[in-house]
Amino acid sequence: MTDTIAAAEQCTAQDLELLRRAIAIAQEAKDRGRHPFGALVAAADGTILAEAGNNSMPPEGDPTQHAELSAVAAAARSVPLEELRDATLFTSAEPCAMCAGAVYWTGVGRVVYALSEERLLRLTGDNPENPTFALPCREVFARGQRHVDVVGPLVEDEAALAHEGFWR
Ligand SMILES: [Zn+2]
Repeated sequence: MTDTIAAAEQCTAQDLELLRRAIAIAQEAKDRGRHPFGALVAAADGTILAEAGNNSMPPEGDPTQHAELSAVAAAARSVPLEELRDATLFTSAEPCAMCAGAVYWTGVGRVVYALSEERLLRLTGDNPENPTFALPCREVFARGQRHVDVVGPLVEDEAALAHEGFWR
């Protein structure tokens, strides 16, 4: 709870609006039969540069197509890399180690997430389709040479709705 209050103080109304858009994308992914994760990359003024829902199931997708990795990869293909420094990844759940790596390598400067990895792990349990890492993204970023700002968890109860009943 203390973490959530601290996170809320670091985010703006625009941040919350974009985070709720990422949560809506998670619900849309679920409605398409994908895993309930959504993400988008926005410029500092709130312009959305890329959006993606989870697409981790073959044959349409593959297990590396997490929403966050797909969104930052699409953003990196659509705008000059130096502009990503001021961009933010908004995601319905904390980025896993793979996606945190993708944020780092694309140079996106900030991450705002809803569900914590810990809360997600409680929702997914040991479901073989999502054996969630118990590894906060801040720990991944801390090992890098470039700083990434992280804000979260935020509005976890709202983000949890898309997961309820999904992982049983
Ligand atoms: Zn991931």
